[in-house]
Amino acid sequence: MLELLGRHPYLRELVISTLIGLGVYVVCALVIVAAELRQQSDMSAYRTRSTLNDLAYAVFYRCSIYNILVMPLFSFLSPRLQFARIGLLSPLPPLVAVTVYWIAIDFLNYWTHRLEHALPALWAFHSVHHAQTRLTFLSANRIHAVEQLYIGLLMIVPAFLLGVPQRLWLPLLFLQLFSETLQHSRLNWSFGSMHGLFVSPAFHKIHHSADEREYNGNYGRFFSLWDAIFGTFVRSSMTTRQHGVSGMIIPETLTAQFVHPFRYLMSRRARSLDPATGQAQP
Ligand SMILES: [Zn+2]
Ligand SMILES: [Zn+2]
Repeated sequence: MLELLGRHPYLRELVISTLIGLGVYVVCALVIVAAELRQQSDMSAYRTRSTLNDLAYAVFYRCSIYNILVMPLFSFLSPRLQFARIGLLSPLPPLVAVTVYWIAIDFLNYWTHRLEHALPALWAFHSVHHAQTRLTFLSANRIHAVEQLYIGLLMIVPAFLLGVPQRLWLPLLFLQLFSETLQHSRLNWSFGSMHGLFVSPAFHKIHHSADEREYNGNYGRFFSLWDAIFGTFVRSSMTTRQHGVSGMIIPETLTAQFVHPFRYLMSRRARSLDPATGQAQP
C-alpha cells in the first residue's frame, strides 16, 4: 500500500486530504452532538431511515468517493485554465486575499442559492437537499452530485483564476464544512447580536421550512448579511415547524434521489408539450 502511494502522488494527496477531512469532520460532529446533548435536543431524529440516507451521503462525500468520480474532470480542466490564471489577488497579503475571495464567493453562493429556488432546472437538483423533514448535522451532506459539482466549480475555479494560495484552499473548505454542518444541527443557536452577519442554525432552519411564508428567504450560505442587504432576511416566531418540501414526492434512497431531478424535469417537459404538435407550449 505504502509503495503504491509512493508511486502515485495524486493518490497520496487524495488519501492524505481525505484522512484530514474525515478527522476534521468527526471532530465537528462530536462537538455538535455534545452541544446537542447539553441543550437536551430531541435526538430521536438520529434514529430515522432518512437520517441513515444522510449518513450514506456523508460516506459518499467525506470518504472521497465523489472526489474520485470527478477527478478526471478537474484534471482535464486544470491545464486548460492556466492561460486565464490572472492572479488578481496575488499581490495582496495571503490573509487579505483569502478574505476578499471568501466574501466574493459567498456573494456568488447567495445568488446561486436564490436562482436554485427560482429556476425549475436548478430547483430539481436543490430540492433533494430540502427533502429531509428531520434535520440533523448529517443533513448538510444531502446534496445532489450535480449540485455539488456546480457549487464546487463555483468555489474552486475563481480561487484558481484569482490566485488564492493553494495551501489555503483546504482550510477554507473546512470552514465552509463546519459552518454548514452546524447550520443543520439540532441546536437552536441564533448567534445573538451576530445573527445579521453569520448564518446560524436557527436562521438556516427557517430556510428549510415547508411553510411558504418561511422558505422563500434566508438564502445565505456563510454570511446572513446578504439576506439583510437584498431583502430576503426572514425572522420567525414559530417554535415548532415542519421541514421538507411541500407538493413534491422525493424518494428516500441515495440512488432514487440521484434520478429524481431528471425524472422531475422530464415530467415537467412532458406536461408542457402540446399533445397535438409535440412542441413546447407557449
Ligand atoms: Zn435552499
Ligand atoms: Zn440546508
